[in-house]
Amino acid sequence: MTDTRPVRVRFAPSPTGRLHIGGARTALFNWALARSLGGAFILRVEDTDTERNSEESLHSILESLRWLGLDWDEGPEANGEFGPYFQTQRMANYQAAIDRGLSEGWLYRCFASAEEIGELVAEHRANKRSGRWEGPYRDLPVAEAEARAAAGEEFVLRFRVPMGQDVVIKDHIRGDVNFRSDEVEDWVAVRTGGMPTYNFCCAIDDADMQISHVIRGEEHLVNTPKQVLLAEALGVAVPDFAHVPLILGEDGKKLSKRTGDTALGDYIDKGYPADALFNFLALLGFSIDDKTTVFSREELVQHFDLKRISKGGALFDIDKLHWICGEYIRHMSVAHLTDAVLPSLRSAGLVSEPLVGDDSVTDLNVIGSRAWLERLVAAMQERLGLLNELPEKAAFLFSEGVELDKKAAKAVANEQAIAVLSHLATAFESADVFPPADWSAWVNEQAAQLDVGMGKVMKPLRAALSGTLGGPELLDILTLLGKQRSVSRIRAVL
Ligand code: GLU
Repeated sequence: MTDTRPVRVRFAPSPTGRLHIGGARTALFNWALARSLGGAFILRVEDTDTERNSEESLHSILESLRWLGLDWDEGPEANGEFGPYFQTQRMANYQAAIDRGLSEGWLYRCFASAEEIGELVAEHRANKRSGRWEGPYRDLPVAEAEARAAAGEEFVLRFRVPMGQDVVIKDHIRGDVNFRSDEVEDWVAVRTGGMPTYNFCCAIDDADMQISHVIRGEEHLVNTPKQVLLAEALGVAVPDFAHVPLILGEDGKKLSKRTGDTALGDYIDKGYPADALFNFLALLGFSIDDKTTVFSREELVQHFDLKRISKGGALFDIDKLHWICGEYIRHMSVAHLTDAVLPSLRSAGLVSEPLVGDDSVTDLNVIGSRAWLERLVAAMQERLGLLNELPEKAAFLFSEGVELDKKAAKAVANEQAIAVLSHLATAFESADVFPPADWSAWVNEQAAQLDVGMGKVMKPLRAALSGTLGGPELLDILTLLGKQRSVSRIRAVL
């Protein structure tokens, strides 16, 4: 590749399932390179596996990419001058290459069945022969092959890999990676029935879409010499490559369902903030320097460099993810965090859509209003590990009454506690301001009047109001419950 070529990168998912963590990380690196060098980020849908494709998968992949903030310049719903961006709509291009390959001889018909090839490969391995296995139809005269095809015999098209050639892959992470063509088998370019394969379509599209850098998972390194040889046969520019390291689960093996969730959607559903997950994914193999863990999208773009991606496997460290999430949640503005928790509050049925009242509602007694929710979020911010923990932790603040758990029930089940609560109920009822102004002084005063320690006031009060002995600050609870609900919860215990 010459340095003057514009930077054009692509993410090329197959819509056969949800977006995998590894795919999301690949997309992120592509996006970051495009954004850091002012290039284009292209989304190409590799949908030639018509049996396994689904609209639902495609939709969820697009949603996941959007959720991460990885906007694409060309592709589905964005268009662009190199479309269409679905491989099934590019068949004419592949057909032209097939016709050319057959007439130029770098594609040939192979009539061997899958079983025959399987036996051949097994025999080749058993005899520990070096180099590749040889396809039995490689040297069949073309006229004969055409006659057999015309007679209706089934065949695949194989790529005739040239012998004795060095294939050098320019990889920005690994440096030059050398292959001998003698080690690459004559791979299937077109299946029985005429559907071209991934390797065939991919190399053609990368050329037609003028892709400058192919950034993808290391597991594709075996495909790269095949694609490079095809590009050479077609006489088109070969892109640069960057094969990003595998993501390893906690067992040191390739990340899989054994050790945790592998679909990005699982993390979305579980309430991980998008910015935190973005940050964490960027760290799977990449680093800005040797000390910075938390960074924004802008900082990533500013510092992104393929050379800073490591060759070695990237550990998926869930503790680190949780730590990063906590950092993001604690540093979000209350308004931003409120927006971020709304979906989980809605799906828990705690808030309505649209919210109660409008944004001008400042009365904290309007439960579920924007102002009330922001007050709630401010009270809970320090206590949230993940966004969707809020509904469970805060449900007691939405309801009219509350049930006491064992410890709370015990805390109010004695004469002294009852005396305290009854005193407080009356005091609250007659208070002009609620919660009473100068809260700690006020509690101190009540404790003195009751002749008990502060703890003996706070504990039963907390138990009666929240139904547990944990949770946010008492003052926050009183504020969010309001006078009427606070008093009625105390009365309910009495
Ligand atoms: N469709 C391929 C995949 O999902 C794309 C690989 C590539 O980037 O070339 O693995």
